[in-house]
Amino acid sequence: MNEFQIIKQFFQREPADLLSEEKSHSGVVLGIGDDCALLQIPPHKQLAVSVDTLVADVHFPANANAEDIGERALRVNLSDLAAMGAEPLWFTLALTLPKNSEFCSEDWLRFFSRGLFRVANEFNIALVGGDTTSGPLSITIQVMGAVANHDALRRDGTSIGDFICVTNFIGDGAAALAVIQHKLPVNDEQQEYFHNRFYRPTPRFIESTLLRGIASAALDISDGLVADLTHICAESDLGALLDVENLPLSPALISTNNIDQARRWALSGGDDYELCFTVSPEKMPELAMLIAQGKLHATVIGEMVAGASVMCELNGKPFLLEQQGYQHF
Ligand code: ADP
Ligand code: MG
Repeated sequence: MNEFQIIKQFFQREPADLLSEEKSHSGVVLGIGDDCALLQIPPHKQLAVSVDTLVADVHFPANANAEDIGERALRVNLSDLAAMGAEPLWFTLALTLPKNSEFCSEDWLRFFSRGLFRVANEFNIALVGGDTTSGPLSITIQVMGAVANHDALRRDGTSIGDFICVTNFIGDGAAALAVIQHKLPVNDEQQEYFHNRFYRPTPRFIESTLLRGIASAALDISDGLVADLTHICAESDLGALLDVENLPLSPALISTNNIDQARRWALSGGDDYELCFTVSPEKMPELAMLIAQGKLHATVIGEMVAGASVMCELNGKPFLLEQQGYQHF
């Protein structure tokens, strides 16, 4: 198949649909097929843009199920839009496929695009363009979304004394990678849980919408809690103190029976795609209310302090980390 056949058969979905009235709210004036897509940004909103590259055997095992790869590629990108408090609108896809390999077979592309479009439909985001080239397998997705002026959840804006929180459970991403690499023995139920946590991370749109007006700073955890929290610290010239005993660990992670390893994964493992956010003491009652009502699953794990780094304590004693997070270079 040449690149145009690939685009037409697998990625140029329902062009007529994009022009129909019900989809016109998505703002796609012109989709795949021309030199550029033409997109209409909703009035009084800002465009939120983010791009992420997934390289085979760095971000996912090349021999993974193609449908899983397609799902994960879009989900991790959507996580950035969610973390910003933006509503998903459009995405582009730059695919690099090794020539004459299984990755440009009809089978691989059919499953990859199935996973990709399942997520696109779930989050109502339209594929509007891309690029198709040959080379080592990599997938680059750029997501675009809209956020009302002044509503974005940014990394700056936290103050000394603000509480540090995370959504749901952390540490599962790194544990899942260990499971996939056969470094962590698990039973069938745990296997399924970790597989889903790795390939189907949930972009936290519901949570970030609730946190608008409550969180003073926020980001999604992709490189590891400590590494990512360091960005929040840097933006406000502050440090952070984390209470390791309060890190929310999933029942599946706890059941692997190595609490020290689990905590280290929660602190410095990557791929969790949960939100880390800060909340001022004045706003804490509002957060507590959302948690008590069961609308938001979040845990206070520390506070912003004077300093310039992230410190960890276990029951009041220093807890040292050899590695803070994933670094490419
Ligand atoms: P150009 O040569 O003008 O850059 P291309 O020939 O690369 O355009 O692509 C033709 C059209 O197909 C463009 O609209 C482009 O955005 C789209 N496209 C190319 N690859 C992909 C892809 N993997 N997914 C979605 N759209 C794609
Ligand atoms: Mg062109």
